[in-house]
Amino acid sequence: LQHSVRVDLAERGYDIEIGEGVLEGIVDFVQQRHAVSHVAVITDSNVDGLYADAVADRFSDADIETHVLVIDPGESSKDPEVAHDLWQTMIEEGCDRQTMVLAVGGGVVGDLAGFVAATFARGLTFFQAPTTLLAQVDSSVGGKVGVNLEGAKNMVGAFWQPAGVLIDVATLTTLPDREYRAGLAEVVKYGVIMDEPFFAYLEAQADAINGRDSAVLAEIVRRCCRLKADVVEADEREESGRRAILNYGHTFCHALEAATNYTRLLHGEGVAIGMLCASRLAERLGRIGADVTSRQHALLEKLGLPLTAPADLDPDELVRLMWRDKKVSAGKLNFILPSRLGEVELVADPPVGDVRDSLGLGG
Ligand code: NAD
Ligand code: ZN
Repeated sequence: LQHSVRVDLAERGYDIEIGEGVLEGIVDFVQQRHAVSHVAVITDSNVDGLYADAVADRFSDADIETHVLVIDPGESSKDPEVAHDLWQTMIEEGCDRQTMVLAVGGGVVGDLAGFVAATFARGLTFFQAPTTLLAQVDSSVGGKVGVNLEGAKNMVGAFWQPAGVLIDVATLTTLPDREYRAGLAEVVKYGVIMDEPFFAYLEAQADAINGRDSAVLAEIVRRCCRLKADVVEADEREESGRRAILNYGHTFCHALEAATNYTRLLHGEGVAIGMLCASRLAERLGRIGADVTSRQHALLEKLGLPLTAPADLDPDELVRLMWRDKKVSAGKLNFILPSRLGEVELVADPPVGDVRDSLGLGG
């Protein structure tokens, strides 16, 4: 079972191909879109032995000069120093303007490899083979690439669209349980913000999702890529504001991540909690009924995601962290809130007390 999603952008579009076992055809997938003579495969040390090494062999077997560049796993690799090491290694390996960069890994590898592709020799052709659920449904679509600065996530980067994205859902079978579930939070998000029938599909397929059924996963990834592509096509460079709907649950999530020093919660776990906070806020403001929140709660619970903020966190501190973000952006504190399942609206500067009470932390 194979799916294809076309992303149509102003300059040029690209295809996302999705299926089980499709990595076997990666050389054809690339060659159909690019005259490739030299590949730099960028991966991390977890994904290298699982998938990237085999991918590199396929290119070598096709008589294409191939190098594998392996980074340490984890967010700390999304760093200018690591990008610098990769640029340097690429020079030593003889990479030039003709080299194609292929990211094989999760969002960290994709964002970093994309950044290196965007910058080396003023920009190289870039392909992605994402291997986490989060990367397959979110970070591999949209062209945002970059690295972090001290205390400033994704502060240095670019919009650099890939020439193609190949998504093998079979790679999800080896993903650690928490990483898999964290990716599911972003999947649920798409249903809430723009697709009620998809939300209902997720409710109906919860058991298959928990069992990592590959046909269901392929359909889920296809649907999420299509939904994100629709948003990105409407707002390629984050100018019209349409992309903001993707931030549902994220204002709360960012405060939760900061309050826990980015160590206790995976991003998707923070998104799950943050979506429920945002939904409660919408209830308080009289925008939705309690049913909209309870359906999200039930689905997220069924998918094994955390539902409440860690009880030791101070609600006032979380509120401070949210409003600190506001100062950084020198504007209003914007929340994306549901108006019903499948539709969200931007709400600027809701009352602080309502935001605080929506955290569910009492006090
Ligand atoms: P990640 O890349 O760190 O991967 C999570 C862990 O899973 C890592 O340890 C990795 O080695 C391992 N792994 C990857 N694939 C595996 C597999 N198939 N089997 C077993 N282990 C595997 O994390 P992530 O959640 O994929 O990505 C997070 C990053 O994505 C963040 O840096 C975030 O900023 C970024 N992101 C970017 C965008 C964007 O639009 N560019 C959107 C959302 C998130
Ligand atoms: Zn997110």
